[in-house]
Amino acid sequence: MSDRKERAPSRPVRILPRRTAERERLAGRPGLRLPWRVKAMSILLAVVGLLCVSPVARAQEICDAGAAEWATAAEANALNVYSLEWTPFDRVEYGWITYLPLIQKELDTRCAPGSPVFAARLAAVQARFALPATGVFDPAVFQIFRGLWQERRPFVMARVADICPEPPPLRELGYLVAEEEHADRLTRLLRRDTLAAYRRMVAAARAEIPEIAADPELLQIFSGFRDPEADAARCATEGNCDGLRRAVCSPHRTGAAVDLYVGHIEGLGVDSTHPDSRRHMSQGATYRWLVQNAGRFGFVPYVYEPWHWEYVGEAMAEAAAP
Ligand SMILES: [Zn+2]
Repeated sequence: MSDRKERAPSRPVRILPRRTAERERLAGRPGLRLPWRVKAMSILLAVVGLLCVSPVARAQEICDAGAAEWATAAEANALNVYSLEWTPFDRVEYGWITYLPLIQKELDTRCAPGSPVFAARLAAVQARFALPATGVFDPAVFQIFRGLWQERRPFVMARVADICPEPPPLRELGYLVAEEEHADRLTRLLRRDTLAAYRRMVAAARAEIPEIAADPELLQIFSGFRDPEADAARCATEGNCDGLRRAVCSPHRTGAAVDLYVGHIEGLGVDSTHPDSRRHMSQGATYRWLVQNAGRFGFVPYVYEPWHWEYVGEAMAEAAAP
């Protein structure tokens, strides 16, 4: 490859006018043909120029596709993402922005809920699961998503089959180091494969997102392996039964469940399930990064708790991803 070709893409702005001027000058001389290299370079630079259009502008353009068909649904979603009154879990919530990162991941789009592309992709899911393909978010389509997310958690599937997984033998557990432990920690052990995957994931998050790198508290662990007997004792003595799940069969008994600090609202706990708390956490850079990337490291989410992730192995997590 010629030296000229190698250098060209790094300085398109300066080269383009010069090449254009050169081309005009050459074209104005009878008998002189434009060299093929100059033609090829012009085409290459035009392509580079197109690719350099601002990402925001490109995203906007793509998200507007299908506007004629989906404009009404998009408008409805733009409103109900903040105003829908519904009870997805045990108390009334307003809007569904808490679940937007997971839904966007499932729809394989970063387009806003008020965009035609978001509505079109939502309609495709509705159609696939025999719901009216309105493109408008509603509790019925949320239940579809919730089912998909829960099915990707082997622990949940075991519970559905009325199985409570046995805790791992102690030799399979490893200790966190001090800087991995959150101040509010309940435990300091994790299954060794989960701990290794967690460490790879945190390194990647810090390398990719300056906001996460700048705050060592983010992604610290406040709960890992929890001994079922200790959980039962805590339930009995403190009355802290976490809706009785702790006493009955918690995923933390597997040593592969991890509670990560993803921010919190002042006055509410790092594991507060209050709708305001979960909404706040879900909008942070840390959670949004996890939703997009945790699967690469073998972790799957639990929709109701933005801090709770379960290690299922890289192959299974990636196979399950949309
Ligand atoms: Zn948890």
